[in-house]
Amino acid sequence: MVRTRILQPGEVEEVRGAIEECRLPESTLFAVREQRCRQLALEGNVLAAYLDFVARLGAAQHEELMKSPPLPATAPKGAWLQASSLVWRSLRRLGQATVNLVAEQERDYFSSLPEREEPWFLAQAEALLAGRMPDVVPAMAPLTAAALQLEWTRYVLAQAQIPPPRNQEAEVCPLCGGQPVAGVILAAGKAKGLRYLYCGLCGSSWHMVRSKCSHCGEGRDLGYFTLQGEMEHVRAEACGDCRSYIKVMYQQEEPELEPLADDLATLALDLRMAEEGYARSGMNPLFLPGPVICS
Ligand SMILES: [Zn+2]
Ligand SMILES: [Zn+2]
Repeated sequence: MVRTRILQPGEVEEVRGAIEECRLPESTLFAVREQRCRQLALEGNVLAAYLDFVARLGAAQHEELMKSPPLPATAPKGAWLQASSLVWRSLRRLGQATVNLVAEQERDYFSSLPEREEPWFLAQAEALLAGRMPDVVPAMAPLTAAALQLEWTRYVLAQAQIPPPRNQEAEVCPLCGGQPVAGVILAAGKAKGLRYLYCGLCGSSWHMVRSKCSHCGEGRDLGYFTLQGEMEHVRAEACGDCRSYIKVMYQQEEPELEPLADDLATLALDLRMAEEGYARSGMNPLFLPGPVICS
């Protein structure tokens, strides 16, 4: 474990007004995640079986996204969750696509999805979004999260022609309210060297300066932790003020990185940060108590 002290001159602050505050997701984001998960699993990551599961989920999400009808650009935020049964149909199909990857004791749950009523799915989704984990059926958590990702991404892509809200320095996604999985330091273009927090739900990202904690806003005591020789493009940015950390991923060092996949693949860093006494800020909705995955 290496702790370094910190930001270099010139990479601290950016000139306001000239930067893109919010970046919308590409429609291929689930396919990209699938490929990255497969790559990391092939490289022998300790979570290879789970990465394979998430890859399969990503393939199913991509397929659903490509064939689902576009939302009208005027759709009210979150309307689908209350009014549309599309999300539950998607969730049932995601279950069908992944049932063969889960352990036998979880398979019954996945197989029972076609008979589940919509209020049951809605209660699961609301509990997951509110962080009420005791109310979430563990076997269902990744599927519910994947269905929510799919629907929020559909919603956000439908808004692509509408200028995103200017909500600087937000701790949560300005478009869907989701938590950040990680920050990404971009490698190219106008945004080169800037940090964008990446939404775990809709795949949008939003700018936040690198010189302060994304959780409490302080910048007095930031430090960076890496695991030597192990995916060093992922660093944990730790704040001495609030004792939280968030992972920061450097695209220049790993152009293929995908925030959710690379977060899953660096579980060892989370374990070390817990040992160091830091709590994680943000959330990876695909890393919640879930099914036992067959290896
Ligand atoms: Zn979002
Ligand atoms: Zn802090």
